[in-house]
This record gives sequence, C-alpha cells and structure tokens, in this order.
Amino acid sequence: MSALLPRPGILEIAPYIGGEAQAEGATRLIRLASNEGALGPSPRAAAAYRALADDLHRYPDGGSTALTTALARRLDVEPRQIVCGAGSDELLALLTRSYAGPGDEVLFSAHGFLMYPIAARAVGATPVTAPETNLTADVDALLAAVTPRTRILFLANPNNPTGSYVSGTELRRLRAGLPDSVLLVIDSAYAEFVTAEDYTAGEDLVRDFDTVVMTRTFSKIYALAALRLGWCLAPPAVADVLHRVRGPFNVGAPAQAAGLAALEDEAFVEAARRHNQECRTWFVERLQALGLSVFPSVGNFVLVDFSPWGDAEAIRLALKGRGILVRQMGAYRLPHCLRITIGRQDEMAEVVTALAEIRP
Ligand SMILES: *Cc1c(COP(=O)(O)O)cnc(C)c1O
Repeated sequence: MSALLPRPGILEIAPYIGGEAQAEGATRLIRLASNEGALGPSPRAAAAYRALADDLHRYPDGGSTALTTALARRLDVEPRQIVCGAGSDELLALLTRSYAGPGDEVLFSAHGFLMYPIAARAVGATPVTAPETNLTADVDALLAAVTPRTRILFLANPNNPTGSYVSGTELRRLRAGLPDSVLLVIDSAYAEFVTAEDYTAGEDLVRDFDTVVMTRTFSKIYALAALRLGWCLAPPAVADVLHRVRGPFNVGAPAQAAGLAALEDEAFVEAARRHNQECRTWFVERLQALGLSVFPSVGNFVLVDFSPWGDAEAIRLALKGRGILVRQMGAYRLPHCLRITIGRQDEMAEVVTALAEIRP
C-alpha cells in the first residue's frame, strides 16, 4: 500500500461517464446522448472562434470582460456579479469548494444532476438526497432533509435527466424555508428552452436574496459544448469568493469570443428554441403511439420509460447497433429509462423508425 493517499471522499467518487460518442461499425452516427444543441452553433459563434486561430499564443482576458459586460447589461446587474467558468461544471465545483468541506452536507433531489455528488465528495462533504414526487423536485422533501450541517442545496431547474421543473413560486418557497447558512444554487442549464409562464431561470431570486446563485451554460442551447463555457450570476459577496478561487485564466479566449457572438445572435437562439419545441412535441407523440410513456420535459431531451418493452439496456444496445446513441440511466437510479436528446428532425424520424423495428 502506498502512503500517498488523496483526501477522504475522493476515492468514493464514481467517475462521471459522459454520453457515448462512438459506435463500432456504424456508418452514420446519430448522437443523442449528451443534450448537445441539435442545430450546431450559430455560424457567427463559429466565425468568432475561427478568427482567433492566429492568436493562440496570447493569454485570454482573465476577467472575460467583454462577455461579462454583455451578460451584465442584459440582466441589468453589476458586471462583478457575473463569473465565467470552464463550463458551468467548473462553477458548481468552485461553489462547492468554497462553501462546503469535510463534515458538511450537500443536498439535492433524488434524480438530480450527477455532478452534484461528485462535487460534494471531491471536497470531503457528504451528498444527501431528498425524494422527488412524480420525478419532480419536492420543495417540502428538500426542506425536510436540511440539517445543521447542510451548506449547499443544488437544484437543476429544469432538471437533467427528468426534464421537470419547479415554478418560480415554489423556488421562492424553497428559499424562504432554508436557513441563511445554506446557499441555494439554481442550475439553469436548460433555461433558454423553457417557455412556461410560471418558470424563472432564477435571476430575480439572486436579486432578492444574498444566498442564491444561478448558473448557466453555453453548452446546451448555444451548442458550444466543445469550448467549455458557463457563467453564474451571484450576490456580490459570493461572486467575490468565486473570483478569488477561480484560476486567473479559467476561460479560453476562443470560448469568450464565441460565447459573446452566440449571445448576440438572438435569431439563432430563437430558431433553436422553436425547433426544440416543435420537434420534441412531434417525437413525444410518436413515442406514445408506440406505447411508451414519456415524462413531460421542458428541456431538449426526454426521459422515456421502456419497461413496457422489457430491458432498457437491450433497447439502448439495439439503437446503438443502428448508430443511434442515447443515454443509459442506471447511474440516476432510473435503469428502466433512457434519456434521448432532441436532435434534428431527420434524426428523430430515424429514431422512431428504429424503435418501431425494435419494439418487441
Ligand atoms: C449539461 C449540464 C450542465 C453543465 O454543463 P457545462 O457544459 O459544464 O456548462 C450543468 N447542469 C446540468 C443540469 C446539465 O445538464
């Protein structure tokens, strides 16, 4: 046995396994396992990225100033309240490192995003889950799970992989019921896809409480997952903490430039939102016609219950054999389900055709 050991908790992390991106022997791949943008990025974002190809020897602007300023203007907040990160995953990890440690508890709902237990264990904190109701975060159950050791409550809204969300009213009831010693982190990675009237991404809560942070990403509707770019809106004191612990150059220049261009291409975002809504509605109807039950989703993915057809893993492998990659849900304790990203219309039509063939 080596005397060299990592800190307690780290070896208990089940490493995050991303969606598959390859299938042996497939001539054409349909990648629906990672909730990536169906239409690819805005051409303006791709052009901004390419324009930096001759400047790769330069360090980026450590403050991501242009992007931060543009985001702050949109939200009508102080630029210092915005912190950019290498994906929102980095910000979730930095928040956890800053506000939780050994002996502390990090709370989230039963089928919450898998990065939360990873972030908690990485700092020696204990992940705690609260039961959901109808695969939706349950505010009362979350409040009942709070203990004097709770430091952070992570709530993905809408949640991945369930696709469900809690209303702005429920979010406020959650915050009101939490002690001030608990930081509420609202992970709004899919906010731009949501059109429900009672939904809020959470910027209004950040404005009203000094114990709420909202995280966002350029990986989903903006379709820039390869660049690793996320940001958060935080109360000034929390933002100050994040600026202290983050790396001085944590966001690359191509990510900053492409992110800014993507943000400005509002027509593209609107087209992506409309495509997702139309294509998701179409796809869900076809799945239901095949006898499957689909959990209501406001995101760019759907969680499908395959138990009427038997083993979900066998279905996943049958799809993979046809070059269609979807996500298995065992790690989310939903092994009878698969999560399918909404891709292009032609891709979703191929999934429907394949499922009709696979149906037992
Ligand atoms: C995809 C996702 C993220 C983060 O993605 P990044 O690429 O790290 O910005 C965060 N939260 C949820 C719920 C997600 O599904």
